[in-house]
Amino acid sequence: MQQLEALTREARALASGEAVLTRYESEVSRQLQICNACRYCEGFCAVFPAMTRRLEFGKADIHYLANLCHNCGACLHACQYAPPHEFAVNVPQAMARVRGQSYADYAWPPALGALYQRNGLTLSLALAAGLALFLLLAVALQGTLLHAPLAGNFYAIFPHNLLVSMFAPVFIFAALALGLGVRKFWREVSPGHVSGAAMAEAASDSLRLKYLGGGHGEGCNEADDAFTLWRRRFHHLTFYGFMLCFAATCVATLYHYLLKWPAPYSFNSVPVLLGSAGGIGLLIGPAGLLWLNLRRHPQHGDAAQQPMDRGFIALLFFTSLSGLALLLWRDSAAMAVLLALHLGVVMALFATLPYGKFAHGVFRCAALLKWAIEKRQPSRLKLGSD
Ligand code: SF4
Ligand code: SF4
Repeated sequence: MQQLEALTREARALASGEAVLTRYESEVSRQLQICNACRYCEGFCAVFPAMTRRLEFGKADIHYLANLCHNCGACLHACQYAPPHEFAVNVPQAMARVRGQSYADYAWPPALGALYQRNGLTLSLALAAGLALFLLLAVALQGTLLHAPLAGNFYAIFPHNLLVSMFAPVFIFAALALGLGVRKFWREVSPGHVSGAAMAEAASDSLRLKYLGGGHGEGCNEADDAFTLWRRRFHHLTFYGFMLCFAATCVATLYHYLLKWPAPYSFNSVPVLLGSAGGIGLLIGPAGLLWLNLRRHPQHGDAAQQPMDRGFIALLFFTSLSGLALLLWRDSAAMAVLLALHLGVVMALFATLPYGKFAHGVFRCAALLKWAIEKRQPSRLKLGSD
């Protein structure tokens, strides 16, 4: 029966010139047809009210809804049609599979989209270790790895201009690849007019991680039917930790170029205070996310993407750990070794940003903005809560 429906949909899509749905997209479409008749989960998140504005689900709709889903698990644990029921409705898992595929579909350049499937824990750690080893060898060739304390002057090991020429191209490429990828997604989902109110609402929903509240504010389901806010808290520690570290780098750049104050900076300077606070957040957040990831209910999300999730979490954790270690022992004989390790991990993090888990934040923000715009437009169907 399901095969017949899929073939009918495919024939209709081919006749109308629409893009043919993949197996995972067809599965989302099937489940959303059931949800559209049921609507029990309407208040859980933005996915269900967005769904009720549609009777049929094309490729772009499915990509939009998949990226709007935060994989909180609430609709799976509430669903009377979840496995082992014959309807086998598992919205978070179906959405996660399409979401993972959509990152690859929108990747820029397209040929690198396949990296999403390969970007796992082993590759992330091997890349970080390889880059760190390369830098350690570069330092060793210049003299000795262990040296007399240099009062934290890491430019004595790697000159400032060399660091800029190493990191700026990688960072710019990562920003460009992600920007062009999300632009393709944005064009495909035909978002409509972007108002200031929609922008403000989407920014608020993103920054508060509103939809990790499970719809009732008590949080997600993780290992079982119990609600927990820990996923939201660990995400916040990770995200704001990352932003504080980024702010520390920006302030240090201003100091260097505008005020002509080169590093190192004292422990009570603005860059070090921002970087230390961010580093602690970026240590606790990823550790907590890994702990949750390891005990996640097996029916949540897409198990095939766990290596990618864990690879990104590991790089964030080791970036912070190596950065804090470098700060603590910067005035010791081990500074060159710690610096090479830290730079290797940071370089691996930047290099994998556009083709790893980081993409979920960018695409989800775009989907939240689309929803903030769409909910302000009159529904063509006049069904559901809106
Ligand atoms: S997930 Fe289940 S309970 Fe929720 S709307 Fe869909 S069919 Fe209904
Ligand atoms: S898993 Fe959570 S965010 Fe995703 S559709 Fe279900 S309730 Fe909404």
